[in-house]
Amino acid sequence: MIKPDAVAAGNSGSILKMMEAAGFEIVAMKLTSLSSKLAGKFYEVHKGKPFYNGLVEFMSSGPIVALVLKKENAVLDFRTLIGSTNPTNAEEGTIRKIFAKSLEQNAVHGSDSAENAAIESSFFFSMLEMKLEN
Ligand code: ATP
Ligand code: MG
Repeated sequence: MIKPDAVAAGNSGSILKMMEAAGFEIVAMKLTSLSSKLAGKFYEVHKGKPFYNGLVEFMSSGPIVALVLKKENAVLDFRTLIGSTNPTNAEEGTIRKIFAKSLEQNAVHGSDSAENAAIESSFFFSMLEMKLEN
């Protein structure tokens, strides 16, 4: 997902370019936005943490770009491409190092496992949109 800070700053195109340059195929993509209810559900695993309410408010503050990306070792390679959660610690040349505004407003989200990638993809896309047959 390209988060609201990066979409608002006009960085979606540059970020998509980095994804494609790193070998990710775009399987599905849409510009949409999350209500606070849906943002809360998306980040439910962090419920109760001190940053949860702020995160939900931020994630529902404006449009986001949801994507399903395809690649060998996609989960791990995507996390390498985006860099550490906190842009201060992110490697040079990573998406977060280049585009994140802060620890919270960190430009992109990446799934942390193949299992969560499947759950999160179906949060945004139908089987038809993901070109899956069942
Ligand atoms: P994401 O799940 O968005 O890809 P991540 O897996 O790198 O990020 P998580 O620990 O899952 O990091 O945190 C989810 C998101 O919550 C972070 O990307 C960031 O936007 C926000 N966040 C995490 N920790 C903090 C914090 N201490 N203060 C403020 N926001 C935070
Ligand atoms: Mg995470």
